[in-house]
Amino acid sequence: MRIHALTTGTVRLKDAFLHAKTGPRRQLDLFLPGSWSEPVPIHCWAIEHSDRLFLVDTGETANVRDIPFARFDVAPEHELPRALEQAGLALADVDTVVLTHLHGDHVDGAVHVRKPVLVHETEVAFAHSLRSRIFQRLLRQPLPAGVDYQPFVLDGGPFGAFAASRPLTDDGRIVAVATPGHTPGHISVICVDDDGRHVLLAGDATDTLEQLHARRPDAVGPKPRVSIETMDAILAHGRSHPTVFLPSHDPESVARLESRITL
Ligand SMILES: [Zn+2]
Repeated sequence: MRIHALTTGTVRLKDAFLHAKTGPRRQLDLFLPGSWSEPVPIHCWAIEHSDRLFLVDTGETANVRDIPFARFDVAPEHELPRALEQAGLALADVDTVVLTHLHGDHVDGAVHVRKPVLVHETEVAFAHSLRSRIFQRLLRQPLPAGVDYQPFVLDGGPFGAFAASRPLTDDGRIVAVATPGHTPGHISVICVDDDGRHVLLAGDATDTLEQLHARRPDAVGPKPRVSIETMDAILAHGRSHPTVFLPSHDPESVARLESRITL
């Protein structure tokens, strides 16, 4: 198995997003003037395994619009096709695409994909809820059209510390697990590497390893308590299996992948 970190541009995030307060200020501060982070990566992941090529998330595209708490730097040459080329891979060889959740910086690159795109059924329902549609309209971030979304359910029972899962391969070495919080249907993908370590492609379950250890909910998840339960599950999983934790926007994710640094 080979896991490749792809980078589809960068984003600067408002500190109110990365270091969210509690209470009413948690979400309000996203829309007020504030300080900004340095650029952080917008990763997605390619996995070569048993003559198959998997994609976890599809990254951002150059026509993304800034929003009150995120300023994007994505050029056409950062988009999925070129990001795959830079890893020595070809979009035409991708046979399975799965999304951690339906935020633009994870799904927009799906416009390049001519294959079905697997999305957790709960996430599809949430993305089409009134609340989500209002935000998509206000933030001018519509779901990309022309994508063959294929809803799936997590019917594979618990996996390690995660309450629900679904194997994505016959050998069970690539597994979708429930990591709700950032969005209600958010999933992560665990790849069991050739040495038996669990490489956890964590989407936006947290933005950084620091946030995981701090057990600090982000500013956008609808229910902070659910985010904390997921962070506790990730930490518990890391205590029972050597686990490499790779959020999509953590500047340290690539180094942790390359050196297989575990929790
Ligand atoms: Zn997100």
